Amino acid sequence: MTSVSGKNTLDWKAFARRLSPVEVIEEPVLIKKRSRDFFWYSPILNKELRRCFGDLVAMPKDKEELKHCLACAYAAGVPVTVRGGGTGNYGQAVPMEGGLIIETTTMKRVLEIGPDYVRAEAGALMADINAALKPHGREMCMFPSTQQIATIGGFVAGGSSGIGSIANGMLRDPGNLLALHAMSVAEEPEERLFEGAEVLHIHHAWGLNGVITDVTLRTVPARDWVGCLATFDAYERAYTAAHALALADGIGPKLISTVDARITGYFPRLEGHIRAQKHLLVSMIPAENEGAFRELIRTGGGHVDLVLTEEERARRKLPHVYDFSYNHTTLQVLKADRSATYQQVGCPTPPDPKAIATLLTALGDDVWMHHEFARVGGQITSFDLPIIWFSNEARLQQINGIYEAHGFPVYDAHTWQVEGGGLKNADYRHLAWKRRMDPKGLLNSAKSAAWGKIKDLSPEEIEAMAV
Ligand SMILES: Cc1cc2nc3c(=O)[nH]c(=O)nc-3n(C[C@H](O)[C@H](O)[C@H](O)COP(=O)(O)OP(=O)(O)OC[C@H]3O[C@@H](n4cnc5c(N)ncnc54)[C@H](O)[C@@H]3O)c2cc1C
Repeated sequence: MTSVSGKNTLDWKAFARRLSPVEVIEEPVLIKKRSRDFFWYSPILNKELRRCFGDLVAMPKDKEELKHCLACAYAAGVPVTVRGGGTGNYGQAVPMEGGLIIETTTMKRVLEIGPDYVRAEAGALMADINAALKPHGREMCMFPSTQQIATIGGFVAGGSSGIGSIANGMLRDPGNLLALHAMSVAEEPEERLFEGAEVLHIHHAWGLNGVITDVTLRTVPARDWVGCLATFDAYERAYTAAHALALADGIGPKLISTVDARITGYFPRLEGHIRAQKHLLVSMIPAENEGAFRELIRTGGGHVDLVLTEEERARRKLPHVYDFSYNHTTLQVLKADRSATYQQVGCPTPPDPKAIATLLTALGDDVWMHHEFARVGGQITSFDLPIIWFSNEARLQQINGIYEAHGFPVYDAHTWQVEGGGLKNADYRHLAWKRRMDPKGLLNSAKSAAWGKIKDLSPEEIEAMAV
């Protein structure tokens, strides 16, 4: 079997036989499909990553099979990329050097449900975890808007926040991600337990420093949530009301997003359900607090367009309100027009509607704002995931510059190396653990710009650079 990636000369048929009894995918078309994620949101990443493929896909069904895959890869010196649902946005799960893709979706058992936690195998889909928790009167403290197709391991390795973050903070905030096991790539792969603050050694390392096998997450009491859509005449008003909702006593939302009116024109499934050409506030609140929510929107000069229980939503065949939040907002536009893209931008804390209004006039007509509200380290903040009508890289840089000049830091979504986006710097703590857990540097190392320079140092020397 020739190399699908064109990068590895190994006899892949023989390697596939060595992996037995692990299920493998050898069909080039299917390998290519599993070499992609949602990097195509970015025209820049699309150009750079669309021809990067793995050579073979393995689908271990338990830890023993995973261990066998990693031992075989170590012995043959084969690059390894771990993959969950493949919903990452920056090519996180794209195999840069070809090699073996290990898809975890067959390691999907919910292992334990405790009074305030859940432990699940890395490949469990978050919607399935939430469904398993329901009879216990619990739910995950947060989940990304991709919960139907994304895995808990992928969320922990690649994600950061989601629906629930306005109430419970970021995934990295203490107490949310309680523990995880990760396996090394070695002659005899070993599992190591990371607990408490140690989970940050692995969280958001993009699968470069160990393969997560299971995850323990905080759960919270389940509520009867209703999805709410309210509209406003001015974006600044929607943003002000969103902030007021985040601060309000006794309403307790688990989602607050604001969306520029021009973006809502790309939501055909909401046509007739929300006022046209108005700025949108998307929220989920406990059903019993609907009255207080309505009063807050009225006081803020808005109009409540739709309040839906889950049963009502299903009966009327309407989408979840979170399909218009986080990166699903971007997806709704991209479904209609691939010339759109987006960016990730931090905002001043506390949220400042005046600063947003000033920025709005400085940005051109090719930038349409969309904010998510979240609690970070206990404080309410917002971040912008704007739709940007892409013309060229120079204009994108100019837009980034306008944001930065107004005090809004850009966490570039158009770069495929871990240091280029949210981190803004090398995470030497992650890399020290990569040195320990992946001594041959087989786990998709090209994704780290810093790794090549420090890979021969000891873990302790690398860790010392973190200070
Ligand atoms: C429409 C849309 C909406 C989104 N909304 C959100 C959101 O609300 N919040 C958010 O944080 N993100 C969001 N994302 C990004 C992404 O969906 C999430 O981060 C998601 O949880 C990733 O899970 P996955 O199973 O698809 O991971 P994948 O894309 O398969 O992998 C993500 C990263 O994790 C690594 N990885 C996967 N499994 C393991 C493992 N077992 N061990 C070690 N490394 C592993 C991969 O190598 C890769 O680097 C969104 C993306 C899209 C396209």
